[in-house]
Amino acid sequence: MNVLETIKALREELNQHNYNYYVLDNPTITDYEFDLKLKQLQELENQHPEYFDEFSPTQRVGGAITKNFETIPHEFRMYSLDNSYSREDLEDWVNRCQKILGNVPLQFTCELKYDGASISITYEKGKLKRALTRGDGFQGDDVTNNIKTIKSVPLKLKGIFPDKFEIRGEIILPLEGFEKMNQELIEIGEMPYSNPRNTASGSLKLQDSAEVAKRPLDCLLYGLVGSNLNLNSQYESLIKAAEWGFKVPKQSKLVHSLEEVFDFIDYWDVHRHDLPYETDGVVVKINDLHLQDELGYTAKSPRWAIAYKFKAEQVSTILNSISYQVGRTGAITPVANLEPVQLAGTIVKRASLHNADQIEKLDIRIGDEVFVEKGGEIIPKIIGVAKRGNQVESTQYITHCPECNTQLVRTPGEAQHYCPNFYGCPPQIIGRIQHFITRKAMDIEGLGGETVALLYKADLVKNYADLYELKKADIVVLDRMAEKSADNLINGIEKSKTVPFERVLYALGIRYVGETVAKKLAKHYRTIDALIQADLLDLVTVDEIGERIAQSVMDFFQNQENKRTISRLKSFGIQFEMKEDFSKVSSILEGKTFVVSGVFQLFSRDELKKLIEDYGGKVGSSISSKTDFVIAGENMGPAKLEKANQLNIPIITEFEFKKMINA
Ligand code: AMP
Ligand code: ZN
Repeated sequence: MNVLETIKALREELNQHNYNYYVLDNPTITDYEFDLKLKQLQELENQHPEYFDEFSPTQRVGGAITKNFETIPHEFRMYSLDNSYSREDLEDWVNRCQKILGNVPLQFTCELKYDGASISITYEKGKLKRALTRGDGFQGDDVTNNIKTIKSVPLKLKGIFPDKFEIRGEIILPLEGFEKMNQELIEIGEMPYSNPRNTASGSLKLQDSAEVAKRPLDCLLYGLVGSNLNLNSQYESLIKAAEWGFKVPKQSKLVHSLEEVFDFIDYWDVHRHDLPYETDGVVVKINDLHLQDELGYTAKSPRWAIAYKFKAEQVSTILNSISYQVGRTGAITPVANLEPVQLAGTIVKRASLHNADQIEKLDIRIGDEVFVEKGGEIIPKIIGVAKRGNQVESTQYITHCPECNTQLVRTPGEAQHYCPNFYGCPPQIIGRIQHFITRKAMDIEGLGGETVALLYKADLVKNYADLYELKKADIVVLDRMAEKSADNLINGIEKSKTVPFERVLYALGIRYVGETVAKKLAKHYRTIDALIQADLLDLVTVDEIGERIAQSVMDFFQNQENKRTISRLKSFGIQFEMKEDFSKVSSILEGKTFVVSGVFQLFSRDELKKLIEDYGGKVGSSISSKTDFVIAGENMGPAKLEKANQLNIPIITEFEFKKMINA
């Protein structure tokens, strides 16, 4: 095989694996093997830019930047759907159809109504040409670059397909991915996203497609549009679309009577909670496309389809009281204590009230009857007042910590109130120790959150360093602590002394220092002493470290108590230095700091950063006197250019950089 043939074979193979994984949900190789092949292809493509192909699976990582999304007219209008909420509504709809069509027998497709952002993707000669949002239905925004990063969207089709057509579907964010994104935001102290749907549609409008590529978006398809597509029914078009490689949810069903439509609705009203993504109803469509033509459209929507909306997962109940929880970082979360009520299959007693602004905005008062809703989130939330109780005054948010009575603070621009008594507020102390022992941190086996609280109350552990001075004799006397579990605990603590520096840094519980930030800092500074000595100016030059994180790191290490804790931890033999990094390919860039700016041809930004680190260099976020090289791509920011010139820092291209590491 010559190089081009190898490249083509790899592309085809990787496309098939993408399809198996993302569309069929049935991978046939490991992620590791996949990554190796992708890397191999990437390398060949780098060496042979002449064989570039915008449809190569390597292009899925994104990198293209869209400054302004161009508005483009839809060739075929994108309609809304009429809604129905009851059996009667559906019966009426069928009667209206039969009135127009006469008494022909009707078949229906029942599909789920996926809750995301609508999309229309045009394919020409089997290749993805363009993707438009719905917009106002007549024209939408061109989000092609972003859509191409969604792995379940085929760039090239399989089988026999029409020369040109549009396929319509919904861009969604599956629940698991959504929770994960939120977890990461919470970890770095940011506000979580409110629901998967808005996050999905927001993602489509991100300027940097590499960012979109990182989000776990999916695309579910449900309709074909075009001229001369040679199709007879909606159900047939679903089957065809699946054959061409699209992700068409399997739940769709062809039925022959309204009774069966009701069965479908009843079934999915319950079982939709088992699906990995959110749905908000069922869409019923007349199956026969000729009958669809006869029925036509109203000003807003097709007459041949109707959405049945599931009853909102919403109930009303009485708000008995509001309690305020204090988290590990001191953040206060107001929680509604409700008169227990049945909602989405569970009994709900508590719901989130988010923060002071939310309570004020909704003007929620104790004794009110409130609406509670369960969306994609695990904890239900209060969305409004159903009926005012007899509380005449609006709710006064607490001013002092419910646990330690310290006056609360609120930083401008932040939603949450905080208890600033970091070292004296019990839930903060306990929370910090609980965080210290978690799996991603010190991973102390044999010790759980409840035991930590017990140890704290028994005055045995007031600080995570105290864990390392625990004696078996101290703990066997505790409630529910047998001989064996005491041994396990002591062993677990001992074993944690080998946990690598980056996880130790995360375990310390510095505000805004989540897993990723801890890794960056550990890699950059390599030892805790170097990190402690770093000042603000130095910290912000680290890739992805902004002023807020930098300030928080400084504050942490300047605190006397923390200093003492760290020297104690050191004396117990905790890892405060990076071990030699074996993932490193070479160290030819040792001691050199690079700043990456602009858009690149050979690599995505993340790939460039990884290469720098793999070869022993450091990645900086902003240009300073400590920068050794700026790697500039297209559209490098003018401010950066000026700064680099001012400081006399060499600016190199990605090609020069490549030579540098090949040398
Ligand atoms: P609405 O936005 O309430 O007018 O509902 C219409 C939207 O529902 C369409 O624009 C689609 O984006 C979305 N939708 C979700 N699932 C389906 C489906 N199975 N068939 C048709 N439209 C759907
Ligand atoms: Zn407090």
